[in-house]
Amino acid sequence: MVNVQSGAQKESAKLDFDAIIIGAGFSGMYMLHSLRDKLALKVTVFEAGNNVGGTWYWNRYPGARCDSDSYIYCYTFDNHLLQEWNWSERYPEQDEILRYLEHCAERFHLKRDIQFAKRVVEVTFDEATDLWMVRTDKGDAVRANYVITAVGSLSATNVPPFKGLGSFRGKSYHTAQWPHDGVDFTTKRVAVIGTGATAVQAIPEIAQQAKHLTVFQRTPNFCVPARNGRVDPGVAKARKSDYDGVRERIKKSFFGFELNFIPKSVLDTTPEEREQEFDRMWDAGGFALWLANYQDLFFSKEANDIIADYLKCKIRSTVHDPVVAEKLIPKTYPYGTKRQPLDTNYFETFNKKNVLLVDASTDGPIEEITPNGIRAGGKEYPVDIIVIATGFDAMTGPLNNLGIKGRGGRELAQDWRDGPQTYLGLAVAGFPNLFTITGPQSPSVLSNMPVSIEQHVEWITDCIAYMRRNKRTTIEATAQAQDAWVAHVAEVANGTLMTGTDSWYMGANIAGKPRRFLPYLCPEGVGGYRKKCAEIAEKGYEGFVFANVA
Ligand SMILES: Cc1cc2nc3c(=O)[nH]c(=O)nc-3n(C[C@H](O)[C@H](O)[C@H](O)COP(=O)(O)OP(=O)(O)OC[C@H]3O[C@@H](n4cnc5c(N)ncnc54)[C@H](O)[C@@H]3O)c2cc1C
Repeated sequence: MVNVQSGAQKESAKLDFDAIIIGAGFSGMYMLHSLRDKLALKVTVFEAGNNVGGTWYWNRYPGARCDSDSYIYCYTFDNHLLQEWNWSERYPEQDEILRYLEHCAERFHLKRDIQFAKRVVEVTFDEATDLWMVRTDKGDAVRANYVITAVGSLSATNVPPFKGLGSFRGKSYHTAQWPHDGVDFTTKRVAVIGTGATAVQAIPEIAQQAKHLTVFQRTPNFCVPARNGRVDPGVAKARKSDYDGVRERIKKSFFGFELNFIPKSVLDTTPEEREQEFDRMWDAGGFALWLANYQDLFFSKEANDIIADYLKCKIRSTVHDPVVAEKLIPKTYPYGTKRQPLDTNYFETFNKKNVLLVDASTDGPIEEITPNGIRAGGKEYPVDIIVIATGFDAMTGPLNNLGIKGRGGRELAQDWRDGPQTYLGLAVAGFPNLFTITGPQSPSVLSNMPVSIEQHVEWITDCIAYMRRNKRTTIEATAQAQDAWVAHVAEVANGTLMTGTDSWYMGANIAGKPRRFLPYLCPEGVGGYRKKCAEIAEKGYEGFVFANVA
């Protein structure tokens, strides 16, 4: 049943755009194409950076590349685009992905509707007119019916408040704010703070250049080999001729990859059988060990321990110094409950003479940044360059930073002070006509993101088309539907091992951030989530309320 309220008489106000999109990465670019070219809406995009690309515009650190296989880390909505673009490697580097997104921008004539170097600082819903007012740091103030956030899940950089950072006399760089002309590490003593997925990519590259590298580790990571390289031309050709099949499979899959769990408990296997499977996945590289392992990996500590032990042995057999190896072995959380880093010679790098590991638990945590370096565990490590690889205020950070105010002036950041509250990760009660692409409580970062991005963009496009066809002025999630969704997301997460780990999925990397599982681990995977969203739309947008043209 469609819940429609007849709209109260609204004041008329000048409408600058039908829709405003915030962000010009994978999400914002496709959203613009979709609304402008399919629905013929008047749309503008505000983007803080000077170009398209989002993640791939900002993250230019050495070794930056995707961890999803290139043939699926791309748009799949256009068959010609799929056929004409050729990736050079299994996991292309940042500059190649950026070139791809530039190509898309050109192909679909996107830039003429993107306003670069403009950061949105305030987004306010005016109940008198049912319009959103969007303001930027450059003084723009424009009105639109719909606001779509395409601000990314990993775009608000996190620099922990290190004491003394400002006193450092050398250079320091966050990996997501990397200088466009690169950084020369030769002859330099370098520190990398952090050992997450970014650092795991950067450390081997920096170690090759730098005179000396000191790695400051808070929590060790289970890394698995990427096995990057050129893709066999026969394989690439076969994929191109079967893109319809690829598209269907990734859409219906668990995580947006052509990977599926082994439908069996690891506890029901013999040591030989599982060793063989683990070796197969290890040799294949990529996310297989994480996302296509035995089905109880994320649910049973006993099962998880078996897989974790396999990976611990790999670390011990790679790192020559047993003391260093022990520091690099995760011991405090189950495998797979943090973002899986893919590595190329990461553990091997700690065998190099010019590389030193400083581990927070055994050597002491970072106490302060000094003019000459970093002090940890009472000892000063002199360095010339500090690379801050401490990640992001994930998922909620970019949205909280937008200054969103909904009905009655209620502030999104305030509503979310105890954790995000959304319906489907797509909409928020009290914030009509606001859509959040890959918002918290959607599969987002637990998937190959282009798959989730395309699904959200297409759902939002269909929803807006429906509203215009049916003369609905606003759509808004109901508080009841939202509460049920929030409870469902938490319930599913609580049934896994994920919530016991201090990860950025839980907001644990940011001091003071509430501990909530931020993405949605749909029990039926991204395919199941897609189906659920589609069914809600088919039922006339169940859980939403519309207002009609008065
Ligand atoms: C180093 C790294 C590697 C990754 N590798 C993978 C991978 O292998 N596979 C995968 O699936 N995902 C990966 N991701 C996740 C990646 O973010 C997504 O795949 C994808 O790029 C997200 O696209 P997006 O457009 O939603 O967001 P983004 O690419 O983050 O773009 C958001 C844009 O919004 C802009 N913006 C934010 N706030 C404002 C504001 N207030 N005003 C104006 N503009 C604003 C930002 O400047 C940015 O350009 C990776 C992320 C990182 C950081």
